[in-house]
Amino acid sequence: MSCNYADGLSHYENKGILGTPEKFENGEKVDEKCAVLADWIKNSKHVVIHTGAGISTSAGIPDFRGPNGVWTLEKQGKKPNINISFNDAIPTKTHMALKHLIDKQYVHYIISQNIDGLHLKTGMSRSNIAELHGNMFVEQCNLCESQFVRFSATTSVGQKCLGTDCKRSATLRARSCRGKLYDTILDWEDSLPEMDLEMSDYQSSIADLNICLGTTLQIVPSGNLPLKCKKYGGKVVIVNLQPTKHDKKADLIINTFVDDVLVKVCKRLGLEIPEYNPEIDPTKYQSPDTTIEWNILKDELLTAKRRYEKLNREYRKKKAEEKLFLSKFKKARVLLKKEVLVATKKEEKVDDPKEELPLENKEQVIVG
Ligand SMILES: [Zn+2]
Repeated sequence: MSCNYADGLSHYENKGILGTPEKFENGEKVDEKCAVLADWIKNSKHVVIHTGAGISTSAGIPDFRGPNGVWTLEKQGKKPNINISFNDAIPTKTHMALKHLIDKQYVHYIISQNIDGLHLKTGMSRSNIAELHGNMFVEQCNLCESQFVRFSATTSVGQKCLGTDCKRSATLRARSCRGKLYDTILDWEDSLPEMDLEMSDYQSSIADLNICLGTTLQIVPSGNLPLKCKKYGGKVVIVNLQPTKHDKKADLIINTFVDDVLVKVCKRLGLEIPEYNPEIDPTKYQSPDTTIEWNILKDELLTAKRRYEKLNREYRKKKAEEKLFLSKFKKARVLLKKEVLVATKKEEKVDDPKEELPLENKEQVIVG
């Protein structure tokens, strides 16, 4: 299927801000910022990456809202010039760097809005990724909701029936499923996949560092997820060519190509980015008879939920302690003010000679 999958989606008016000019910071500035970012990655406990279409443009797949993006051109009555199919596209330096950063445990989770399947093609585990808008190389059963990796891109978009049977085979406990497989690509008004979204919520909140790569953060809820960590004291980094919706809330913004940033950051961390390897790409190396499941595991979701709940409990406890301290402080201040007032009045009494005189003398003073 062509990379312009957008043709298959239904008509939708509000596509956000389109075609804003791109910004490029100078090399020295980028170097300095990459050093800061590498340092933050090294010193953070839980790093989550949010990826958008901007990380796949160097693979030949157009973005949506860039100067040559699909929606920007559509507004001008044009179509993007695409020379590659989803089946032929391979992961970029950024995709490969992210897989390596996960393997080396510098990065813990990826939340992607991309449907191109390039994260999957790096050979990364489903345990490390949520795909909020679907994946051209993943199909889902309408009955048991199991997801399976495909060996070629889906032939439809908008969660339509592919006409094939569910691949869940019979086990000791259950008969084989009688469901049908559907593509997983969301249309404009479709709700996001429940488990992917729930996991993304937890992961974005427990992250002490959320890094956004190649997204203008305009689509909700995906674009708002990176800000979840702010409440708990986490940092937000944005790497993008165009300004984004949340630039004002970011702790660090780098305006240059994402590939350049990932190359520099990996170098600073002493990591060499591996080349794309078709042998670990599940869409390539398996025989078509093999079934590869692509499901978020309930246990993993539960573990993330518990971590999130613990963080929330600690946050609420800290806030309650702060409130108590503040109210004690306010009470003490009121008390202190009262004491100062009393003391000042006493002092005024001592200073006033009339107060010291007996009543009859007072009168004398007044008369005199
Ligand atoms: Zn099924």
